[in-house]
Amino acid sequence: MNVNQSVPPVPSFGQPQPVYPGYHQSSYGGQSGSTAPTIPYGAYNGPVSGYQQTPPQGMSRAPPSSGAPPTSTAQAPCGQAAYGQFGQGDVQNGPSSTVQMQRLPGSQPFGSPLAPVGNQPAVLQPYGPPPTSAQVTAQLSGMQISGAVAPAPPSSGLGYGPPTSLASASGSFPNSGLYGSYPQGQAPPLSQAQGHPGIQTPQRSAPSQASGFTPPASGGPRLPSMTGPLLPGQSFGGPSVSQPNHVSSPPPQALPPGTQMTGPLGPLPPMHSPQQPGYQPQQNGSFGPTRGPQPNYGSPYPAAPTFGSQSGPQPLPPKRLDPDAIPSPIQVIEDDRNNRGTEPFVTGVRGQVPPLVTTNFLVKDQGNASPRYIRCTSYNIPCTSDMAKQAQVPLAAVIKPLARLPPEEASPYVVDHGESGPLRCNRCKAYMCPFMQFIEGGRRFQCCFCSCINDVPPQYFQHLDHTGKRVDAYDRPELSLGSYEFLATVDYCKNSKFPSPPAFIFMIDVSYNAIRTGLVRLLCEELKSLLDFLPREGGAEESAIRVGFVTYNKVLHFYNVKSSLAQPQMMVVSDVADMFVPLLDGFLVNVNESRAVITSLLDQIPEMFADTRETETVFVPVIQAGMEALKAAECAGKLFLFHTSLPIAEAPGKLKNRDDRKLINTDKEKTLFQPQTGAYQTLAKECVAQGCCVDLFLFPNQYVDVATLSVVPQLTGGSVYKYACFQVENDQERFLSDLRRDVQKVVGFDAVMRVRTSTGIRAVDFFGAFYMSNTTDVELAGLDGDKTVTVEFKHDDRLNEESGALLQCALLYTSCAGQRRLRIHNLALNCCTQLADLYRNCETDTLINYMAKFAYRGVLNSPVKAVRDTLITQCAQILACYRKNCASPSSAGQLILPECMKLLPVYLNCVLKSDVLQPGAEITTDDRAYVRQLVTSMDVAETNVFFYPRLLPLTKSPIESTTEPPAVRASEERLSNGDMYLLENGLNLFLWVGASVQQGVVQSLFSVSSFSQITSGLSVLPVLDNPLSKKVRGLIDSLRAQRSRYMKLIVVKQEDKLEMLFKHFLVEDKSLSGGASYVDFLCHMHKEIRQLLS
Ligand SMILES: [Zn+2]
Repeated sequence: MNVNQSVPPVPSFGQPQPVYPGYHQSSYGGQSGSTAPTIPYGAYNGPVSGYQQTPPQGMSRAPPSSGAPPTSTAQAPCGQAAYGQFGQGDVQNGPSSTVQMQRLPGSQPFGSPLAPVGNQPAVLQPYGPPPTSAQVTAQLSGMQISGAVAPAPPSSGLGYGPPTSLASASGSFPNSGLYGSYPQGQAPPLSQAQGHPGIQTPQRSAPSQASGFTPPASGGPRLPSMTGPLLPGQSFGGPSVSQPNHVSSPPPQALPPGTQMTGPLGPLPPMHSPQQPGYQPQQNGSFGPTRGPQPNYGSPYPAAPTFGSQSGPQPLPPKRLDPDAIPSPIQVIEDDRNNRGTEPFVTGVRGQVPPLVTTNFLVKDQGNASPRYIRCTSYNIPCTSDMAKQAQVPLAAVIKPLARLPPEEASPYVVDHGESGPLRCNRCKAYMCPFMQFIEGGRRFQCCFCSCINDVPPQYFQHLDHTGKRVDAYDRPELSLGSYEFLATVDYCKNSKFPSPPAFIFMIDVSYNAIRTGLVRLLCEELKSLLDFLPREGGAEESAIRVGFVTYNKVLHFYNVKSSLAQPQMMVVSDVADMFVPLLDGFLVNVNESRAVITSLLDQIPEMFADTRETETVFVPVIQAGMEALKAAECAGKLFLFHTSLPIAEAPGKLKNRDDRKLINTDKEKTLFQPQTGAYQTLAKECVAQGCCVDLFLFPNQYVDVATLSVVPQLTGGSVYKYACFQVENDQERFLSDLRRDVQKVVGFDAVMRVRTSTGIRAVDFFGAFYMSNTTDVELAGLDGDKTVTVEFKHDDRLNEESGALLQCALLYTSCAGQRRLRIHNLALNCCTQLADLYRNCETDTLINYMAKFAYRGVLNSPVKAVRDTLITQCAQILACYRKNCASPSSAGQLILPECMKLLPVYLNCVLKSDVLQPGAEITTDDRAYVRQLVTSMDVAETNVFFYPRLLPLTKSPIESTTEPPAVRASEERLSNGDMYLLENGLNLFLWVGASVQQGVVQSLFSVSSFSQITSGLSVLPVLDNPLSKKVRGLIDSLRAQRSRYMKLIVVKQEDKLEMLFKHFLVEDKSLSGGASYVDFLCHMHKEIRQLLS
């Protein structure tokens, strides 16, 4: 099975199927489902094929094949755009009628835009104070391992910084101020070996957004007061990734092959624990040669005698820990693929741990939601809160309510209970599900969540069989499946009125920057064809979604595109402080009816503003206008904003450039992640109330304050895309791919999600792109198939091993045709009284997803170092608790990890050294804010590859092989200079070419005769008719099709300056920003664990 295979382009979702009364799914064949129900019940619809047929990836479907838009006409070279002499405001030379509009009577003023929002869900969970220097010193003094192994010296970041001798580790290093004091690109190279602990070496470190991360070539941020077009050559560097100027520091110290020590850690094999009768022998996370305790074993981990003493630094022995002897992500992924990739995952059994996200597998829904919808950190929950506190394993579920499914899997069935609506528990309001217990011959049911006894309405009555099960159980999705949908009644609609179909409003920045780069022309050309691919309901001939258009710079231009007009009409609103919508009729239209007018408009927009000199933009009034338009049309919808610059024009939400790298590593660093003003949150709140979702496409040439601009997309369930230093020739493929996918994708509008749990646990915290006005309802103006909501649970009572724990996620939303629906996902988990059962049923990938989101939210309120320390401490507690309670007694010198968590250290280290938590000198503030908000709604598969990138060798596997080559570990020492590798992390894609690659290979792939002739930074491979070229290009296409955003290719040559970018993603190695190598971090974790156990 390939979940990523191409499917026919049916862009809509959730279209109702022909209604049929029976429910016969093959997997239920032979069961009582074949018995016709004796009592008629509301019919429900069949498989909603629209969901599964929605193209899983934007790239996999035939895009609107307009071909490359005519970019050349718009491409004045960077900084050389010839612009006319029109003054500001003289831009209206296009549409036939231009009307300066006055406010319509009765339109709503934009109220108190500066009021801060109270209930902001993204700012919870304060961290404790950072450890004092005394604490740090105490921790340092217990550390005996760093001298022996590849040094993991203490820094003020808790012991893993650049390698150094322990002699200088006093825990009070001056580490603030230095980091940000070097302008970008001017960091003096520091010797790795001399790096002072606690000082983040201010060298460059490749950005994780390589293709979009390059700082503006003009260097410093643009001053807010700067107006007027940029002069020729003033700014706008070349392709964002091929700027060798930013890659100036020496290569990082790699682990030299051949210097590793063999036979390192000597963990004990797992043994039966006598104290835990129920604890079955499990595959332990031990690694390396298995051996028993050896008192004098000279491992890198000195055993108890010296542990905890106050002795000084240890001399550095030449030995190193053998990387091959520590847990390998590649091996774990391979093993799971081999063991679990062949059989379907059947969800009928409570508490089953699903295969890893990296394994391709089919799911059969037999009563629990597919792991594509819900993944948990553990499938076995401790019965008591004391146990949970002891283990410190977060109990969380990563929920993707509208996840796209592979074509082989049926989308949720739609159940129609008619006017009575879905059957629910009277007390807790949980929806009917397979776990409800029918009693008294079927006349009543007991709620599985709150135990309340409810009457069964007459129309829903059915007899029970001898096991107490309703005889129609298998005919009804809500009695037999983990996931299904109910048609909602009018009671579930706003103002007790069925919703109108949603609308899309395209809002295009037409300031100087947008015009100059060719963006506006490219976008308008693309929209002409893309509008034919708006989401549709299954059988519908055309999309029900209406569209509208706004352009803006420091004023807004609305367009009347009514079908009866010969030409579009422009209406200008210059009173941005008091935004209103100047026209209702003719603003939101049906694409087919108004096609001629829309085409005419899209042709005219680039011409109208071709000579603009306006560089200032507004932002909040634009969203305000879109939201007001939806309000006036009484519908939900989505705004697509295409924006280029910091909104410095006089208007609500006006921003100033407040970027300050000197704040990094200070207590004020958090302010870089916080919005600059409360106006954005206030606006977001209004948008959510209207069901107005905002997708933001950013094309910045310098700092635009992503942290502030992304507030509205973040709180409305929208997406942010960022194309730094956008140039049509370099970036159009990426932008258009993202745009096509974004416009076409499945969206539920005006949604509310509630997670109910059985007695004993409850949802206490939520992470993702949404808004919450109370503690239980997750409000999503829009929710697409890529977005996840992570929910954390805590005990409020004792759980019961027998009954387990239940989750029910209910999502109420409006489909793209305006149908109100409820999607229900149910999941049953086991409960345990033995900690070993918890550790046997954890999922590390999900744990990391949760921990990353927890940490990335934490930086809003706490110093980044404190956030990192919290993660390390929690991880150490988790592993120490296992060691203490579940592993067999063994020498303290041995590191023993639970099998399910043996990758926790390596993955956690990747999170700790990520750009948000440990930025390199060249990561911009905007990039950090951008990545921070991206991770917030990532699913488990996305965080997995984002934090630990995939590295695929290209010439090792047979040329005829059509499967992906097996990955290798993300470390420089795994690279052979005679080979080539693809590296991807879901956002970036590199092709690394070794210096000794055979000439024939170079010729086949690049059509040049030698390595030296390969263009560094190349982003497109030549299309050549030979097996290798086809294979590599095919593999690149396949990788792109698996991801939700287009990954631009960057060709990197060994020893080339660009290689620094690439090496940033070799996450097992030490990073230039001070991030520990995997080996060093593992040693550090071991020390932390031992400290906890002593
Ligand atoms: Zn109930």
